[in-house]
Amino acid sequence: MKMKLFLAALIAALLGTTQVNAAKVRVVATLTDLADLTRNVGGEFVEVRSLATGIEDTHGVPMKPSFVPLLNRADLVVLVGFDCEHAFLPALLEASKNPKLQPGKPGYVDCSKGISPLEVPKSTDHSEGDVHPFGNPHYMLDPVLAKTAVRNICDALVAVAPEHEADFVKNRDVYLAKLDAKFVEWQAALAPFKGTKFVSYHGHWHYFAQRFGLVYYGTIELKPGVDPTARHIEGLVSSMKADHVPIVVREPQFPEKVPALIAKQTGATLIKLPIMPGGVPDTETYIAEMDYIVHSFVSALQK
Ligand SMILES: [Zn+2]
Repeated sequence: MKMKLFLAALIAALLGTTQVNAAKVRVVATLTDLADLTRNVGGEFVEVRSLATGIEDTHGVPMKPSFVPLLNRADLVVLVGFDCEHAFLPALLEASKNPKLQPGKPGYVDCSKGISPLEVPKSTDHSEGDVHPFGNPHYMLDPVLAKTAVRNICDALVAVAPEHEADFVKNRDVYLAKLDAKFVEWQAALAPFKGTKFVSYHGHWHYFAQRFGLVYYGTIELKPGVDPTARHIEGLVSSMKADHVPIVVREPQFPEKVPALIAKQTGATLIKLPIMPGGVPDTETYIAEMDYIVHSFVSALQK
């Protein structure tokens, strides 16, 4: 008798669990920043996985076999857009055979909707690099543009689970208010350094520099996705010296050797900055990542 009761309780518990899980919207985000925004808006009604862990190249997240069943079962795929994920996402979506997630479907959540890209190439012949064909996709490093991504994610969640609309909208507004308050803080922290020049390996920082009044002086890469030549590095070093560029940013997915050499030759400070949450320790959320970036600039420039 006891056993029967136990089994009945177990079955009830399992059914209960299944029902709760079934009600959750299953989301796959390409990058960790979008996963974090989705968790903030979706709250208890979403189950979010990110393809990237935070340390990868945003243009080349290594494809794992486990991604295919994950996408096959998902209700939404949340992406940066502007072809940022061109090297891995289209192939994964094709392999997933999930009709809900294909481009143009409501489950395909392009967070760039409503954002005007910087650095749109004049031609599409790839002469200006291979990885930014529709302009620079790294708008997430601008917390004001990240708000557009939050709104796009909310709209997509409401479309797929309208029964939770009130919760999604409330969560969205709470998060946007939190982001606004942090933005005021970040702006104040960087305000004394307006006009400061810096370089980085890849062109991640145009939107960030523009938003905070810094000057993105150039990239160590020759063009987006194209390694530097010796001549390019020599030219960059001599102009950085002439213009007193004080900061070299190194993104975690690129080797330290060349950025460190350039910093040494120019007397600039080398800082390693994440380009999405998880890129360096203690940056597990978007806000923590931006905090880390702003504080790293401030402490390097206060030296
Ligand atoms: Zn890029």
